[in-house]
Amino acid sequence: MFEHLKNSDKEVYDIIEREHRRQEDNLEMIASENFASFSVLEAASSFFTNKYAEGYPGKRYYGGCLYCDEIELMAIERCKRIFGAEHANVQPLSGTAANMAVYFAVLEQGDSILSMDLAHGGHLSHGHPLSFSGRFYKIIPAKNNLETGLIDYERMEKLALENKPKLIICGASAYPRIIDFKRYREIADKAGAYLMADIAHIAGLVAAGEHPSPFPFCDFVTTTTHKTLRGPRGGVIMSKKEHAAIIDRQVFPGIQGGPHMHIIAAKAAAFGEALKPEFRSYQRQIVKNSKALAAGLLRNGFTLVTGGTDNHMVLVDLRNRNMTGKTAQNILEDAGITANKNSIPGDPEKPFVTSGIRLGTPAVTTRGMKEAEMTRIAEFINRAVEAGENKKALNAIRDEVKTMTADFPIYKSE
Ligand code: PLP
Repeated sequence: MFEHLKNSDKEVYDIIEREHRRQEDNLEMIASENFASFSVLEAASSFFTNKYAEGYPGKRYYGGCLYCDEIELMAIERCKRIFGAEHANVQPLSGTAANMAVYFAVLEQGDSILSMDLAHGGHLSHGHPLSFSGRFYKIIPAKNNLETGLIDYERMEKLALENKPKLIICGASAYPRIIDFKRYREIADKAGAYLMADIAHIAGLVAAGEHPSPFPFCDFVTTTTHKTLRGPRGGVIMSKKEHAAIIDRQVFPGIQGGPHMHIIAAKAAAFGEALKPEFRSYQRQIVKNSKALAAGLLRNGFTLVTGGTDNHMVLVDLRNRNMTGKTAQNILEDAGITANKNSIPGDPEKPFVTSGIRLGTPAVTTRGMKEAEMTRIAEFINRAVEAGENKKALNAIRDEVKTMTADFPIYKSE
């Protein structure tokens, strides 16, 4: 692979190859990451890179869009089929852009949004003060129950009735349990709010029936395509038919110019994979692995936010191990395990330090790992936390990780 680049620009090629090696050699436990298939990578680097196609199928502002129309319609149809959506816009360049387009479609500057607090699992684009979402809109942050870590629907309902937000967002970046979309709908109806689900993290699980669907409860559903869904880096908006026109207008020309047709081609390829029966078993294994990882961590004395998991991720509360999330992220990296620090509900540490670490199983499951490997990974993590700054002990774990990952190559046909 990459033979042309290797010959024409060895400097760029070498960095790409080093990144490839890093992915192969380490245990990728970042809950929002995955390994797209060779087919998806090929589509993403295809000749569609060269093409401008502002507008939508049948209504473009450029000539030569015959095949752009064909591939975009295919991506739309496959996406609608996967999720049972009435309308899909596959042009958003990212999850954040997808969310922005929905806000622009239904809100005016200064309108209020009720969303999960960032420290309780929400995402930056759901209203962080430094994000456009927190700057343009009045945010009502919903906090989870501090004792259980679970979404507190009763408290949220009270908040919604007191504040009457125009939009309620359900969806999270760091919540290991099932989200009750029906309950959210009841709250939105009582408050007279639009309801948007951001299923970026759980999209693959939803597609495979491993997590309840946000349809028919939500007016809008946004997602990224690169997490559990295992596609290229990008976003999608789905909605009820009645909202199709305002969504499409806000994506283009509202916030974007030319769609990235090569990524839309890769989305079509990834959606094709998601429609195959193997995808269902893959998603089922993600959840089984996540539960096995949670059980292994509990056996090794870790505390988990909400006590366990129903989905692809585990959120570890490190306070009983006297270690911050920042330190844990660094020592795990030295041990060959890639993860990210994460705030936990009621976190006493700053967001850049945190008391938690978020772990996910989508990527290791893609390489074929199963419950037995999750048990070993929990042990590696425990040994790394016990080793602390002891580089020799961390290097020993790293060697074991490398031996283990070598048995589960990602890009096998190379
Ligand atoms: N929404 C949620 C729930 C996310 O977790 C993320 C990213 O992690 C996003 C949106 C943003 O996606 P992107 O990084 O593509 O903008």
